[in-house]
Amino acid sequence: MSQDHKKTFVMKFGGSSLGGSKEILQSVSIVKKYSGQSKLIVVCSAMGDTTDRLLKAIDHAKKGDLEKARKTISDIRASIEKAIDQTVEDSGLGQQCTEWAKERFGEIDRVLLGISLLRDLSPRSLDYFLSFGEKLSTSIVTAALSSAGLRTRYLTGGEAGIVTDETFGSAEPVLKVTNEKLKASLLPLIDDSVIPVVTGYIAETLEGHEVITLGRGGSDYTATLIAAAIDADEVLLWTDVDGIMSADPRIIHNARILEQISYLEAMEMSAFGAKAMQPRALEPAARKGIPVRIKNTFNPEVPGTLILSTDDAANGVKTGVKAVGSLTNVGVVNISGTSIVGSPGTAVKIFEILKEHGVGILMMSQSVSENNVSLVIRRNELPKIVRALKKDLLMEDPEVSGSSKNASSRENNTKFSKVDYEDDVSIVAVLGRGMIGTPGIAGRVFSTVAKQGINIRMIAQGSSEINISFVIKDKDRNRAVSALHEEFVEKPLEDKPVLVNKA
Ligand code: ADP
Ligand code: ASP
Ligand code: MG
Repeated sequence: MSQDHKKTFVMKFGGSSLGGSKEILQSVSIVKKYSGQSKLIVVCSAMGDTTDRLLKAIDHAKKGDLEKARKTISDIRASIEKAIDQTVEDSGLGQQCTEWAKERFGEIDRVLLGISLLRDLSPRSLDYFLSFGEKLSTSIVTAALSSAGLRTRYLTGGEAGIVTDETFGSAEPVLKVTNEKLKASLLPLIDDSVIPVVTGYIAETLEGHEVITLGRGGSDYTATLIAAAIDADEVLLWTDVDGIMSADPRIIHNARILEQISYLEAMEMSAFGAKAMQPRALEPAARKGIPVRIKNTFNPEVPGTLILSTDDAANGVKTGVKAVGSLTNVGVVNISGTSIVGSPGTAVKIFEILKEHGVGILMMSQSVSENNVSLVIRRNELPKIVRALKKDLLMEDPEVSGSSKNASSRENNTKFSKVDYEDDVSIVAVLGRGMIGTPGIAGRVFSTVAKQGINIRMIAQGSSEINISFVIKDKDRNRAVSALHEEFVEKPLEDKPVLVNKA
């Protein structure tokens, strides 16, 4: 078969697939296996939890504790050196890689020193610092692949062609330029049987050519951006589970692998923590209709989960409830007053305050009779937003004592009378295309939860007919997820015993 008939795959290896030497060697063997029959582009995350560890080092440095910061980095360095030693067989390549890593650790140390002196750090410097996780892992994988006899080329996301706006911490690619650049840099390489090995997560600003990141979990996005630009046949996201499951396997031990789901369902699921994937990571693939497959690096024979367009995903697959997701680390803000509901100007005021503070709404509901609007936001954003709402809506003193969760109300000349909040709640969602159109599902959801004696504080249904979400206390989360998983996912297989293990 001529080369041009080969399929093109973009393969991304997540942190768990590059956790240590053993995992890297397993990932290398997968690339080697596919490289014979296909054109490949490899995208790497940082090794294991390197990004979290880098953040920890930064935290110590910001507090002025350079010693602790350096200790955290020296632990990372030890893992890196060990990985080079054990995965790059060719001693020349190993030596080169070690030298290169040494220079990177020099740069890391200079940043740490600066931060510990300034006790401050800009989003720009943070992105620069975090980029080392992917640079180091990718250089190891490149050397290990070369050492295994493959022709490779190391490229940072920026060198590959991903250029973005200046939103440090969560950059948005400038698509037209990015697509052109990616094609120009990658196509000649794969046509020449060279495997580009690209750092996930990091890119470059269009204007200043500065290092920037695509946000946590951004390597999936790197892979789909590349796939869409070069019209790849498929994206393979290699991870440590057999696919996307019907619930978080850490809560439901007998969760099922979903064989096929649509892009929209997968986006919705990733918003609820499934496979810690960025919801926007699927957009480029969805736009071009490129299938995305989630595969287990440590169990590569299993087909995994195939994510594709709604029409294709419907083929032979049941609609209705497919999965149960949940989101903790959230909080509810309740705003009450006269004429809030039905008065557009009043609601706009609330949104403006949120926008001013850069706070996104995860879920929202309103009650006409009680003239109340409830918003779910990320928990760490609660204090600042409650303070701002009280100040701007109730004309209160901005002091919100950390411990007081109680209603703060008083007579004033605004339409608002009360702002209160709960910080010990979770969102639970049942997900699946077409389920809201199926009569009776919402009723079954709420009666299942009620049977557990769990009190539902707030409900929202997406107009996309893809999820029903509700808010409950944190302590009830696992019980609600288990009960719903049993009712909707496990029940259809009555012959199998139900083994719900509560975490
Ligand atoms: P990677 O390191 O490959 O990027 P992630 O840690 O980002 O992997 O995502 C994989 C993890 O997502 C799994 O190990 C699993 O614990 C978690 N997870 C949460 N919910 C789900 C789900 N519904 N299906 C599959 N995995 C899930
Ligand atoms: N290493 C980055 C993170 O941990 C990006 C990724 O893994 O996708 O968020
Ligand atoms: Mg990830």
